[in-house]
Amino acid sequence: VNNRTPLIAGNWKMNLDHLQAVAFVQKLHWTLKDAKHEDGTVEVAVFPPFTDLRSVQTLIDADRIPFAFGAQDVSANDSGAYTGEISGAFLAKLDARYVIIGHSERREYHAESDEVVAAKTRAALKHGLVPVICVGETAEDLEEFGASAVPAGQLEAALAGLPANADIVVAYEPVWAIGSGQAATPQQAQDVCAVLRGVIAKTVGEEAAARTRILYGGSVKAANIAAFMREPDVDGALVGGASLVVDEFASIVRYQK
Ligand code: PEP
Repeated sequence: VNNRTPLIAGNWKMNLDHLQAVAFVQKLHWTLKDAKHEDGTVEVAVFPPFTDLRSVQTLIDADRIPFAFGAQDVSANDSGAYTGEISGAFLAKLDARYVIIGHSERREYHAESDEVVAAKTRAALKHGLVPVICVGETAEDLEEFGASAVPAGQLEAALAGLPANADIVVAYEPVWAIGSGQAATPQQAQDVCAVLRGVIAKTVGEEAAARTRILYGGSVKAANIAAFMREPDVDGALVGGASLVVDEFASIVRYQK
């Protein structure tokens, strides 16, 4: 038993323009009426593309929709000559609560190193955003080093030197499970999440380790969410593909342990 509020987070990736985003959030809200997120038992967050954020914020604010939202990336810099980048200050001004950092697609297609991930984590915290730090091993890593060595190393690099009160979320996303339809087993997820909690304890502190939510991500769907949520060190899910289907995502939010 712990007092971490489960977090069900939808990473839309590069899907849904701002008009589609508004329609989606309205429909999701309507589908989830009276679900357990309404009383704060579960937190729901959506991560739309940058161009949708203002529209999503306006809708959530106007209709008092109990969803948090965040961005999928943030610049390591505050402002200035960084063409194409988005400052954490801008996201904070939009009332974004979260920002995903170091998703495997950013690490792979944009060559984001552990150093970049650490810098972006600091930028997020500086602007009052909660970084959702993504770590995970590839199939080759799994074969060569086992499941936990690479994600533990990535997390240690991201967290080194953070203050004991840092408010973060960690997402364990085995790369081989993302978008593949082949989720990790609940036991595999639990084993790595427990190791990651140990990394938080070592780098940030015991209190942070006890309160930080660690999410599992990788082919989560309505049919497997409950089994993950029964694991003691899994505090929620980062959902890709299934977060784009209203009924499926709503069913994930409504999981019953
Ligand atoms: C993700 O990309 O964060 C993810 C978990 O994707 P999917 O749920 O589609 O595997």
